[in-house]
Amino acid sequence: MIENLNYIKEFGLENFEIKESARWKCDTCGGTICVHRGFCLKCSGQKNQKEKSEMHR
Ligand SMILES: [Zn+2]
Repeated sequence: MIENLNYIKEFGLENFEIKESARWKCDTCGGTICVHRGFCLKCSGQKNQKEKSEMHR
């Protein structure tokens, strides 16, 4: 988190958001993956659910 703050200080908040949104892009629907929850906001973590059901087997 301190690294993030340093990045914002150096490159500005705009660049930080661009960097983060590129990093947290869902490869299923292209939506934004929630950084804190770790799943896509658009398809409501469908990818996560699939992984979970596979883990149960
Ligand atoms: Zn998605």
